[in-house]
Amino acid sequence: MLLLLSAAAMLHAERVTVRLFSNNRIEAIYVSFDLGVYTLYGDSQLLEPDLGEGMTVEIKPAAGKGVAIAVNGYSYGTFDSAVLRATDTACILCLNPKGVKQRTYEGDLIVTAFDRSNLRVINDVDFETYLAGVVQSEIYGKQSDIFRVQAIISRTWALRNMKKHRADGYNFCDYVHCQAYQNRCVRPDIMLGTMQSSGETIVDKDGNLIDTPFHSNSGGQTANSEDVWRAALPYLRSVKDTFSFRMRQSDWIKVVPREKWLNYFAKTHKLNTQDADVRNTLLSFTQTERQAKILGVQLTRVRTDFGLKSTFFSVTTDPKSGDVILNGHGYGHGVGLSQEGTIRMVGLGIAYDSIIRHYYSGASIHHDENVSQRYVQNFVVEISKIIEEDKANPGKKKSKKDDWLGKLFRVRDRMDREEEYDPDREEKEGDWKVEW
Ligand SMILES: [Zn+2]
Repeated sequence: MLLLLSAAAMLHAERVTVRLFSNNRIEAIYVSFDLGVYTLYGDSQLLEPDLGEGMTVEIKPAAGKGVAIAVNGYSYGTFDSAVLRATDTACILCLNPKGVKQRTYEGDLIVTAFDRSNLRVINDVDFETYLAGVVQSEIYGKQSDIFRVQAIISRTWALRNMKKHRADGYNFCDYVHCQAYQNRCVRPDIMLGTMQSSGETIVDKDGNLIDTPFHSNSGGQTANSEDVWRAALPYLRSVKDTFSFRMRQSDWIKVVPREKWLNYFAKTHKLNTQDADVRNTLLSFTQTERQAKILGVQLTRVRTDFGLKSTFFSVTTDPKSGDVILNGHGYGHGVGLSQEGTIRMVGLGIAYDSIIRHYYSGASIHHDENVSQRYVQNFVVEISKIIEEDKANPGKKKSKKDDWLGKLFRVRDRMDREEEYDPDREEKEGDWKVEW
């Protein structure tokens, strides 16, 4: 992270590598440039020093091995890798893989080939820039504290899982297997919430980063970790969560043919559905409080097998057809933080740290002392101004540059600091270690 002036083990990272389009087969990718200047290398050989608007780099798996690189139709030949390096912080790439929707990203790009028909596309990017993209992909909402909460849990998750794809040669994929990172952050309110959370992570009472699972909606009560996975973690306790009521994913209904429901328990779980008590339980199971099992069968298993939104459901039957009606609450595994509960709590004016303590029992927020609050405040003030300008001019057609707010602010902040620079003041180590 640019704002971090020195290294503190485990509690922050500066850059990450993320595999993009990890859920797609990429047969070719066309790269154009939205902002700034990029340098193109084939392996370590400099091919183009000055790529910008109007240029397109085409990268395809080569017939033999490696990747074939061409710029505006001119072929440079075949290399093991194609590398695009940003020449400063305000650089945006526009990625158009064949047959996949366009996305934009910041930072560097490294493209290699898995085989003759599939490319591996890696984004080497500033950690906090990655996080802002994750926050944008993972949660919806309008208030910056919603994004602040998501940024803290996503930062904590990322720092705990830096080695998740070590065997593959990168830190994270861009899919839900790790955290969704479907584009660079383009919204100033999301950038604001992410910036406000700079240096914040969630730790247990011993100061260790916690596991931070989250889900869309708890349905009114979160789940104990051991009821969904194996480990009983002290900070992943079931809590009452009325904040998750009356949101998009609060309730659901699913109708299952009666025989299908009973046969499932008879065949898959060897329950004697001829027995009146067993039948009765299966057809009138209720959860006023979350349960882990129905007649000894894990509800997580039932959820998977029937494709249910959650395990938090009760059973009734249709008086006419006899079909089973599942009346469910919430969406997701139910462990840890409810995103819609968070959205509602922020709407009610509840502080971001109280929200985190509500969902992660006994955990607290750690503030990294190496993050300069002064620089954070500079960004916060400037981004807040832009958000106010946007509010004052609703529907105003934005120029292309307005879309690059986050980057522009970094540049502006740099100018501020250069203006303030006092050559007579003794420089502290790290003062200018910031890459701009
Ligand atoms: Zn992954």
